[in-house]
Amino acid sequence: MAGLVPENPAAEPGMGFVAEPDGNVLAGVPDEFQRLWTPHRMVYIQNGQQPAKDDCPFCVAPSMSDEDGLIVARGKYAYVLLNLFPYNSGHLLVCPYRHISTYDLATAEEVAEIGALTQTAMRVIKDVSHNDGFNLGMNQGEVAGAGIAAHLHQHIVPRWRSDANFFPIIAKTKALPQLLGEVRASIAEAWPKA
Ligand SMILES: [Zn+2]
Repeated sequence: MAGLVPENPAAEPGMGFVAEPDGNVLAGVPDEFQRLWTPHRMVYIQNGQQPAKDDCPFCVAPSMSDEDGLIVARGKYAYVLLNLFPYNSGHLLVCPYRHISTYDLATAEEVAEIGALTQTAMRVIKDVSHNDGFNLGMNQGEVAGAGIAAHLHQHIVPRWRSDANFFPIIAKTKALPQLLGEVRASIAEAWPKA
């Protein structure tokens, strides 16, 4: 989702001009958009290197236990896991098991199951979290902001009316009120059993 993230986090609505530590002044143009910007995603994109299949986190996760892999549901062609670097509590990713990079490479079966798992994930998150909305999306390619561009993944980000705050601006920190293990357990428990 980094593709939805501005290059310049200082360009917040209403802030106008912001001085950097070295004295440079950055101009910001206010608009109607809220910002989700996440410097921690640099962990994913450092050096611009994409993982090979052998050390791809989305290929490795299914071989782990649900708890260790942060997996909430497993389908036949795709599975659902928690994002290790969430934008919000309950930020899920739907991945095909196959190491394919873009949506057009997915088979009809994979497309159908990614869609079905996305719908189920939305229903479960709504039940568990009582959120007000979602961001859904797939970034296709590094240029479009995909952290792990080598392995297709659909983001499901629950949103609350009150979820934007000033922590990201002043502390480069997202406030995440629940631990990943707790979030995984509550979503997995609410997931309809096949
Ligand atoms: Zn992979």
